[in-house]
Amino acid sequence: MPPLTKDVIKFGHFIVTSQVFHLSPLSFALVNIKPLLPGHVLVSPRRIVPRFNDLSIDEVQDLFLTVQRVSRMVERVFKATSLNIAIQDGVDAGQSVPHVHAHIIPRKRADLEGFGGTDAIYSMMEGEDGDLDRHFNERSGSDPSTTTNGQGRGKFPAVDADESRTPRNEEEMEREAQWLAEEMAKDEKEYG
Ligand code: AMP
Repeated sequence: MPPLTKDVIKFGHFIVTSQVFHLSPLSFALVNIKPLLPGHVLVSPRRIVPRFNDLSIDEVQDLFLTVQRVSRMVERVFKATSLNIAIQDGVDAGQSVPHVHAHIIPRKRADLEGFGGTDAIYSMMEGEDGDLDRHFNERSGSDPSTTTNGQGRGKFPAVDADESRTPRNEEEMEREAQWLAEEMAKDEKEYG
């Protein structure tokens, strides 16, 4: 599948073009560098603004329609039965990337049993480190063997609740983005 766009797409100051699997007129969806659970993706407005209240009416409409489309796809593809859809709006709410983004996390019954239960997802989100900057920068020009897990597309490892889990490398994220772009295309045929 060809790249979705020739434009450079930024999430905050990160260049994430190869991680983008869906584009709408005012928003984009990208795969997560450090998913809390399989299928944890993000949806952002194309315009880089930190707070939800900075968005225009058109951007809010487009963002939420995109969240709905993307959440339908990840729920199907990751065989989930529920979803967390969340925006940490501002630093004091746990936001670490100053660019509005909705987290979409496919959920299954008892998926966090042993990690504090269903609602443990909130402390996991809260606990996401601000250290990703360092990892992301190191990775461009980094040794991919440190993060490649060698698993094929569609077989992304279950993410555990361990804070020390390693950020994924570009190749793995790109593979997932291509797969999810194809799945979005299937939905588009069905739902328009
Ligand atoms: P928050 O703490 O609500 O701001 O969430 C930030 C989210 O962005 C987390 O889920 C991170 O794993 C994710 N993230 C940070 N940097 C990147 C990146 N370069 N590419 C993809 N996801 C990222």
